[in-house]
Amino acid sequence: MPLNLIHGPPNSGRAGLIRRRFVAALGRDPVLVVPTVDDVFAFERELCAGGAALGGGAMTFGALFRTVATAAGLPPGAELSPAQRLRAVSAAVEARLPRLGPLRRSASRPGFARAFERLLDELQAAGVEPGAVEAGAATLEGSAYMSDVATLFSAYAEMRERAGRVDSHGIARQAIELLRRDGSFWGERPVLLYGLDDLTRNQLELVEVLAGLTEVTVALPFELGNAALAARSRLLGELRERIGVAEETATEADPANTDSAELFELARGFGRVGAVAREPGGDLLLLRSAGERGEAEAIATEVSKLIAGGVEPDQIAIALRDPARRGAAIAAALEANGVATALEAELPVTGTAVGSALTALLEAELGSRRAGDLLRYLRGPSGFSPGRVDWLERALRRGRVEDVEPALALWQGEDGEPPRDLMRLREAAARTPAALAAEVGRLAATMASRPLRGEGDGPRLDAGDGLELRAAAVIAGALGELSELGSLAPEPARLAATIAELEFRVWSGPVEGRVRIASPYRLRAGRFDHVFVGSLQDGEFPRRDRGGDPFLSEAQRDSLGLDPRRDSEAEERYLFGVCLALPRRRLFLSYRDSDENGGAEARSPLLDEVRALLAPPPDGSSPDSVEEAITRSRDLARVVHPLAEAPSEDELARALAAHGPSADADALLAAVGVDGERGTRVAARVARARGVEAASRAPGPLTNPAAIEALGAVDAYGGTTLEGFDLCSYRWFVSHELNPQPLDPPPDPLVQGGLMHAALDRLYKERPGGDPLPRPGSLPAWLARGRELVAAIAAEREIGSHPAERAMARRVERLLERFLADEAGRETGGFEPWLLEAAFGAYEEAERPTLELNGWGLHGAIDRVDRDPAGRAIVIDYKLSGAVTPRERFEEQAKLQLPLYLLAVAEHWGAEPVGGLYHPLRGTSVRRPRGVVSAEAAAEVGDYGLYDRDVVDAEELAELLADSRRRAGEIVARMRAGDIRRDPGPRRGLRGHDACPPFCDFAPICRRDRAPEYAEDEDVEER
Ligand code: SF4
Repeated sequence: MPLNLIHGPPNSGRAGLIRRRFVAALGRDPVLVVPTVDDVFAFERELCAGGAALGGGAMTFGALFRTVATAAGLPPGAELSPAQRLRAVSAAVEARLPRLGPLRRSASRPGFARAFERLLDELQAAGVEPGAVEAGAATLEGSAYMSDVATLFSAYAEMRERAGRVDSHGIARQAIELLRRDGSFWGERPVLLYGLDDLTRNQLELVEVLAGLTEVTVALPFELGNAALAARSRLLGELRERIGVAEETATEADPANTDSAELFELARGFGRVGAVAREPGGDLLLLRSAGERGEAEAIATEVSKLIAGGVEPDQIAIALRDPARRGAAIAAALEANGVATALEAELPVTGTAVGSALTALLEAELGSRRAGDLLRYLRGPSGFSPGRVDWLERALRRGRVEDVEPALALWQGEDGEPPRDLMRLREAAARTPAALAAEVGRLAATMASRPLRGEGDGPRLDAGDGLELRAAAVIAGALGELSELGSLAPEPARLAATIAELEFRVWSGPVEGRVRIASPYRLRAGRFDHVFVGSLQDGEFPRRDRGGDPFLSEAQRDSLGLDPRRDSEAEERYLFGVCLALPRRRLFLSYRDSDENGGAEARSPLLDEVRALLAPPPDGSSPDSVEEAITRSRDLARVVHPLAEAPSEDELARALAAHGPSADADALLAAVGVDGERGTRVAARVARARGVEAASRAPGPLTNPAAIEALGAVDAYGGTTLEGFDLCSYRWFVSHELNPQPLDPPPDPLVQGGLMHAALDRLYKERPGGDPLPRPGSLPAWLARGRELVAAIAAEREIGSHPAERAMARRVERLLERFLADEAGRETGGFEPWLLEAAFGAYEEAERPTLELNGWGLHGAIDRVDRDPAGRAIVIDYKLSGAVTPRERFEEQAKLQLPLYLLAVAEHWGAEPVGGLYHPLRGTSVRRPRGVVSAEAAAEVGDYGLYDRDVVDAEELAELLADSRRRAGEIVARMRAGDIRRDPGPRRGLRGHDACPPFCDFAPICRRDRAPEYAEDEDVEER
């Protein structure tokens, strides 16, 4: 009994015809085959709505194969679940890896098993057996490669048999054989196919056999001369030639099959030569957005407006060429507006917090045994406070710890325990592999539910939590299924890799009441009132051809009887045509013209084809008035909706807040019709948020009496503390008083500086060779001892266990050598080192007490003071940098310590201060000190290469010291009063006022928009 064919373009009533034929055949228990389970539900709903009676059933092709086998009295045996099949493929790859030739390298990489499984699917769906691949390998070019494919195919078949399971392709072959042998068991049950526009070899064979037994009707999208449907002409040809056609019905496109004449014409015209353009009628809209998030929000806004206008969510679909990549952002934007979604996309479980943390824990304990994996687990839903994990990370980074054992020792401390999840894992691992797999499944569930627990009912469930629970359920289910495989179950050390290969469907429940987000393949059998086609970007839709089959060439495919690869251009155009035909009422085509940073993005050329179907045609002017009229734009500057368009109460509150604190909230809300209880609620939310924001800007000037009392009780300050406050009082408060602890080891320059200072201090105190400072004759002794001291101090400070630290110590050694050589070549003018690391203050090692200065005290340690026989002193401050501060910039660059130390030298040590110099240690060619020197001493220390502008007369020097004393006093007064502000830079009128220094990374804490940074001037031209 040959085939009945129904073919026609979209909107030609094929679905209605199939439904009528199905209903007419109810007495003969008909079977309708549709692409997905969702289509099964949709068809059953439609049938019930039409009052259909009992009899018949809708199913997918997979279910039809099973139904056939069961009807024959030979129900198929236990079938490999997707996780079990993937494991069988992995086990086959592991077992045959040593024997592989050209495929060996790729086969040892993660992700190979999944890619190979796709090839197997195609081979098996085409009825190809391992022997056929082996035979092909013997005759074809690239035979070693084909031979590897055959080896892995046979190994998979062995593994499947070892597991005692069948797979869906085996069931398909069994069903076909049973029907071929004696199909009388099928009786006269008619079979109808709808929405399937491409069939595998097995499916085609089943249709062929069934057509020999009963009435089979296939409805296809096809129309002679319709280029958009050309990609599906191959199936029609095969059905005609291979099976033969009894009756062929060509349905005609009919505007009565859709609500929108405009969309009907659009779908008809796409890809058709000579299609007549028509003026837009309002049912086609373009959404132009900036950035992926902007696009997601633009789509969410339009969807929310439709739902607010009474459209049922399941009458809205969002078609994406790649829902796994683009769907999550759109789903999140919709759910933020309170819209339920069904994102039909497969994502890797490791993309969830649970999947990532669980695989990390398994790697840390049973796989890599790396400290980083332990940390990754602890950072996930491990139940530990982020603060505790921060301290561990700090210890790991500072100790450069890479292995898990020392990391665990640091975590546990003296008498602590390993993380409880790890103990559960160890306890189960000590029993059996099955017990371990079951425990890992339970751990996934524990981790996923942790954020939901806590005090009382726990925190509110948010959108991401459902995803975590689904991922955990998939992991637990897959591990349970894998345990059933006995000896094929993964070894403990492979558990992490096995979980990492798992994928899960983001939404797999009923889609009623939800907006579907799916690929055109999944949506193609349905119709919706409103359809969005998102992410219409060049290279994404149409997708760029990735170069065909990763495993087989066209010649190899041909020799195996596989269909040639699809013409990717025709396929993309077909899918876009599917999208155009999905809506009944309105179509939104969405694209991005820029990314989040404003970089241009190219839209899909398919949009230009749509534009060509609109009249009048573009006249070359920009912007195109027709397009502008149907486009809704969302540019980068638009961060909130206009009040009148806010799609949810959250967005309404944001839009209101954007009007600023002085706006009249009640009047604004009333103007857009929001009043009564809702208006009061929204206005109160914004007012509350403003209060929180204002409070979070603290500390302003401090008001807490206890804090002010504590600050006022400080009686002595260091020079760098005063400078820090002068640089920015907020920065000082955070770094000095709140004292946040960085995770990273101290920066290299700080460590190098400490090493250099300590080496210079000891060296100058030891005076190798007897000279108070290196002279040409004693330089070799100074150099040798200097090197020894750097090594000794590095060892004392435990620097040198890592190659980077050893390199750093070598750099310090080089700098020291160069400094000593410079020093040995300089005439001293009678100034020789007198004080080294001269400490003063209220601490034990201090040589002198705190320096009292107008009601406050100064403490510190001066790097070096040189003195001449007349008792005149110059303070030297070593700087491990190339650039140092000239006198004129002391105030501008918040320098106070050097002049204050001159005061200390005078008061405490009784010398006459004649200069203070910052001595650069790192400069490449120019290492001339900067600072201030009295003219009366400048000639004696001229060998330093002093800059003219740093030389002042005695009065000016005295003024500088007095001024520094005054500035320091004012700073102390502000500190004691708790006068903390965001006040970067020097006083008004000086360069850099109100500009944050480039090195300050506290902006996220103080939440000040950074003012422009200022660059340091170079002084190379100065003399
Ligand atoms: S970012 Fe600017 S205002 Fe904020 S703490 Fe740093 S210097 Fe001060």
